[in-house]
Amino acid sequence: MREILEKLYLKNSLTREELLYLLGNLMENDRDKLYRLAYNTTLRTYGNRIFVRGLLEFTNYCKNNCNYCGLRRDNKKVERYRLSKEEILVSLEEGNKLGYKTFVLQGGEDPYYTDEILVDIIKSIKNRYKDVAVTLSIGERSRESYEKLYNAGADRFLLRHETATKKLYDSLHEGMSFEHRIKCLINLKEIGYQVGAGFIVGLPGETNETLADNLLFLKRLEPAMVGIGPLISHPDTPLRGFENGSIETTLTMISLTRLLLPNALIPATTALNTLSSEGLEKGILAGANVVMLNLSPIEARKKYEIYKGKEITDIHQLKKIEERVKKVSFKVDMGRGDHINYNGRIKDV
Ligand code: SAM
Ligand code: SF4
Repeated sequence: MREILEKLYLKNSLTREELLYLLGNLMENDRDKLYRLAYNTTLRTYGNRIFVRGLLEFTNYCKNNCNYCGLRRDNKKVERYRLSKEEILVSLEEGNKLGYKTFVLQGGEDPYYTDEILVDIIKSIKNRYKDVAVTLSIGERSRESYEKLYNAGADRFLLRHETATKKLYDSLHEGMSFEHRIKCLINLKEIGYQVGAGFIVGLPGETNETLADNLLFLKRLEPAMVGIGPLISHPDTPLRGFENGSIETTLTMISLTRLLLPNALIPATTALNTLSSEGLEKGILAGANVVMLNLSPIEARKKYEIYKGKEITDIHQLKKIEERVKKVSFKVDMGRGDHINYNGRIKDV
């Protein structure tokens, strides 16, 4: 175990066999060491800074039916909403006044937002705020669509791969395909976006092989950002009553990702913060360096219920975040927080 951890720290790579050995034999003291190595790696790459992003959930309509998600098409209990361009701009102005330099526009896959509508929204944001980064998280679209949005000024795109195990992916995503998801990630990267991938911890049937698949996939894809969060079971989905993902496994995955991709931007996710009152602190100590704070209108927040009990820290609570991260020797960075040394290299993923 010691040699494997050392290799991981010094070479930032492991074979599948080494990863499986590590996952199968990690004792508590090894885990602590792993977290420490990951935390030290963040300090070496980005320093003790946590980047903040303003997250705007602008639509909860979704044409997909992902088995874990409360926004899935078949959940008729959701009160659906969409924000207009004007409403979006009003919300972002709140964030701008507070000094936010990255806005994440997230939503279900909502065909209402055509390329034309989105291009207009993105251009308006970029015209108004010259120095902000716009991140999109709006699911799968055609390459042409991604190109138009990129040309309009979008800088980054979050599209978690959810799981790199095809069989598991296909079993959870009726009407979608693993191959198409991966193709979208490659398209986004080729176009020039800073791309975010990531996965859910604790999906039904997950094994150490599943976790290793995820980590090795990330190593090959080399995304700029990686979002990893525990599954939180939603009562109005097919995964109702299913056990939530483990915090410990989530933190282990954050650490391993930090060590495999030292320059990645890794959030302490909302799901982690929902399951653990100290999710942010624990996430940082395990290698995370991003936090997304909510800037959706109050009426929208309750309706964007991916899972129950979502912990919402909003953009006004920066002071609280500052105090919390200080406990783990970090400080809030209000800059754009771009990836360092990002290369758009495409390998065979
Ligand atoms: N619709 C877009 C997509 O799927 O890429 C973006 C919005 S979607 C709500 C954002 C992420 O929420 C998904 O990538 C998924 O990993 C996560 N998610 C959805 N339901 C979840 C649940 N019950 N527990 C944990 N994470 C969940
Ligand atoms: Fe829609 Fe995204 Fe939820 Fe899947 S995870 S149902 S694509 S909002």
